[in-house]
Amino acid sequence: MAVVRDRRQLNLRLPLPEISERRPRFPLPLPPTNLPFSSGATTAADLEKIEVIGHGNGGTVYKVQHKRTAANYALKVVHGDCDPTVRRQVLREMEILRFTDSPFVVQCHGIFQKPSGDIAILMEYMDAGTLKTLLETKGTFSEVDLAGVAGQVLNGLSYLHSHKIIHRDIKPANLLVNGNMEVKIADFGVSKIMRRMLDSCNSYVGTCAYMSPERFDPDSHGSNYDGYSGDIWSLGLTLLELYVGHFPLLPAGQKPDWATLMCAICFGEEPALPEGVSEEFRNFIECCLQKDSTKRWTAAQLLSHPFICKQSVI
Ligand code: ATP
Ligand code: MG
Repeated sequence: MAVVRDRRQLNLRLPLPEISERRPRFPLPLPPTNLPFSSGATTAADLEKIEVIGHGNGGTVYKVQHKRTAANYALKVVHGDCDPTVRRQVLREMEILRFTDSPFVVQCHGIFQKPSGDIAILMEYMDAGTLKTLLETKGTFSEVDLAGVAGQVLNGLSYLHSHKIIHRDIKPANLLVNGNMEVKIADFGVSKIMRRMLDSCNSYVGTCAYMSPERFDPDSHGSNYDGYSGDIWSLGLTLLELYVGHFPLLPAGQKPDWATLMCAICFGEEPALPEGVSEEFRNFIECCLQKDSTKRWTAAQLLSHPFICKQSVI
């Protein structure tokens, strides 16, 4: 524990704001986005709130219906008077969602900004919830299901990484599902666009529990952290959780606190699957959960791993 206490103090440095975050921000009019509606500009008044579907960090996500077309969407609303950090996160999310165009990333249909400063992001509605809620309601996933999930998330990550976007918060609650069991990556609040080759990606953001060892404790893991491999660690942990039914680094039911997570992620054994799983699945998880980030496979490499390929030809 003494070691833990020492490290904890070493890590009490606040991350420097990113360069893009130091610029003054004014409520500038936003350029139009790819609105799905046939004619005229859609405003918030064209949408009717049906119900709250999620509460996030500083914002609320509603199921809304377009009054004229009756199509359902999700609307993430963040209030103008929210914490500056939350506001930065939503602006970052907007920046990424406006740019991304992949069937494996939740689609953004429009962004509204009121003079009051409230920001709303209109997204495709994922009607089956998240992988977290599916785990809670339907129970653990089979290997075949997980190969399908993994293939889709890897396609999303491969797309993002090839565009120099690191998600940094891959976890079951940020992977949305629709009725066709399509899985899409969502919640880009703490993501980062690597604008320059030498951009550092060490700031302390995202959900600690799914953080890779080199991100949780950069002092002990060198300065060669590239962030992309951190997303792969988080995916490995997510898949393991969906298979075993609880956060895999701790016994079922134990609430993670910072020190426990530090011990489990940085000093514990590499997390592994229980007995009885296929060799492909075990090896796939090992390729994601290498403690040494340089040994982890990339999203593109994992897409051709036998665990993914074998299932896609069945
Ligand atoms: P958190 O801080 O808890 O991660 P957040 O503010 O970053 O939350 P999101 O993760 O984007 O917000 O959304 C919160 C919840 O709202 C999700 O976990 C999900 O249940 C629901 N949700 C978000 N977007 C959609 C969508 N497009 N379709 C259906 N449900 C959604
Ligand atoms: Mg979220």
